[in-house]
Amino acid sequence: MTTKYSGISFPNSTHVFGRNCALKIYKDKKGIVWHRITKRWLGWIPFNPVILLFPLIDIVIAILLSSGDNITDSVDRLNLIFPNLGSAFLLVVFLLELTAIGVLIYMVLRKNDQCKWHGLEHRLIAAAEHDSIDTAEYFSIISDRCGATYFPTIFVVFVFLTILNTGGFLTLAFLAMFIEAKTFHPYNKIGLRFGRWLQKKYTTDEPDHEMMIAGKEGMKELMEMENRGLQE
Ligand SMILES: [Zn+2]
Repeated sequence: MTTKYSGISFPNSTHVFGRNCALKIYKDKKGIVWHRITKRWLGWIPFNPVILLFPLIDIVIAILLSSGDNITDSVDRLNLIFPNLGSAFLLVVFLLELTAIGVLIYMVLRKNDQCKWHGLEHRLIAAAEHDSIDTAEYFSIISDRCGATYFPTIFVVFVFLTILNTGGFLTLAFLAMFIEAKTFHPYNKIGLRFGRWLQKKYTTDEPDHEMMIAGKEGMKELMEMENRGLQE
């Protein structure tokens, strides 16, 4: 049985997650590529705890919108429930929006290495799951499991919720993604086609030679640790 891996990439690093450990491949200020393996401190939880944020944000949005009066009153009301909760929420939403815009600009301008890290992430995961990390170069930098392949589904969910005029956007979008991943994702031709196009055009790129070397070395270590974990 082979472990399933997942990953996420940033402008200066990529992260691959196994069941028990996580691999980080990154570049230092001198441009040297390193890798590091850490134990996942929440590895025992069968899902990524970050997803708990979705219903939480949806609930707070619902509270904010239900009042019908202006935003300052809503913030004040949240502040009464817990000191500074409303203000903190406003700040978080603002930062999330700012980050999303920043990421989009980054992706479009392509003046960073994020596309290369993203390509490396897909390639290492594909090679590892085929148990051929030594020939990782031959694996595609395009992945049909990439988040981009779910964008059309998320779009449809958003359109439906807008028509129905209900909330719960993040939670329902995540649920739809989860159900799709477990069932019809391989047959979602529109999603797969859109995802491949977006990856090819904007979000992935051929990784540098040094990234590949460090990536393969790190992935090999991660696979060993995961396999050992399976035997225990
Ligand atoms: Zn991806």
